[in-house]
Amino acid sequence: MNEQTAPPAQAAELRGQCHCGAVHVRLPADSAGIVACHCADCQKLHGNFFALLAADASHVTWEGEEHVRWYRSSPHNERSFCARCGSRLAKRPVEGGRIMVSAGLFGRDLPHKVTKNLWLQDKPGWYEAPRTGPVTPEELVALALSAPISSETADFGYAMRAASGNPHPPGVIALTWIQAKDAAERERIRAHSRQNVQDFLAEPGFLSIVTGFTGLRGFTVTAWQDEAAMKRALGQHHAVAMKELFGQDFVAAVWTAVWTPTRINRLWQRCPACATLQDASDAPTHCGSCQAALPPRPAYW
Ligand SMILES: [Zn+2]
Ligand SMILES: [Zn+2]
Ligand SMILES: [Zn+2]
Repeated sequence: MNEQTAPPAQAAELRGQCHCGAVHVRLPADSAGIVACHCADCQKLHGNFFALLAADASHVTWEGEEHVRWYRSSPHNERSFCARCGSRLAKRPVEGGRIMVSAGLFGRDLPHKVTKNLWLQDKPGWYEAPRTGPVTPEELVALALSAPISSETADFGYAMRAASGNPHPPGVIALTWIQAKDAAERERIRAHSRQNVQDFLAEPGFLSIVTGFTGLRGFTVTAWQDEAAMKRALGQHHAVAMKELFGQDFVAAVWTAVWTPTRINRLWQRCPACATLQDASDAPTHCGSCQAALPPRPAYW
């Protein structure tokens, strides 16, 4: 057993080290995870699943980097280990600014719990996957950004919806996409976007936003009761962000559009009692077929 133990975790950061002590690492305390990866690569490289914490690579500090070796384990990922003791240290996508650091480096004081199992379909039958605790939306986003997946024509990523509860049908819909040059710009766009969503939620004519990232491309779909509501909300932080975009070297490309409906169809909701689809557009309280009580009508967007 390793006689050396990592110093206790402090509020501001987590401190870890490899088995021989040649490599030390410091992570922000709010790093996301723990993710348990059960993929075939992790099986080979670790003997079982790999437990990881996700963080922005620029927030991670290494000491003893001369002992660190990197190995390209797949076309999109590389992994590092200590050249003296062989401890597995980290995994990172070849492109992108995030890194996943081995939870085992941080010793028994690590306060994190396993929040997600990855690649369970590749798990061998001889162990049970760890039970997972609750995952915050921020953790889900961090995880999606840490392991971006793309195939020939498709980029995968994450999406989230923030809804106001406004029951009106949308009068206008705004579509946008924005292309970051690198992972750092993507984080900057996300910071603006978080502030925008707060402004939107304060506007009574706001319905909801669906937003996310695939690779370096961010997208949003926002629905508004009318154009005046949209203009009021966009006059807040969004106007500051647009100034940065046009005044500085920030983002590779951007497109926005505002759409008005050609036709708004009825909103259909299934009755839980008789399983027929009911016209819920006018928010009926009871099923038109069997008179059972209906759940509240979903928002239009
Ligand atoms: Zn070592
Ligand atoms: Zn894996
Ligand atoms: Zn019914």
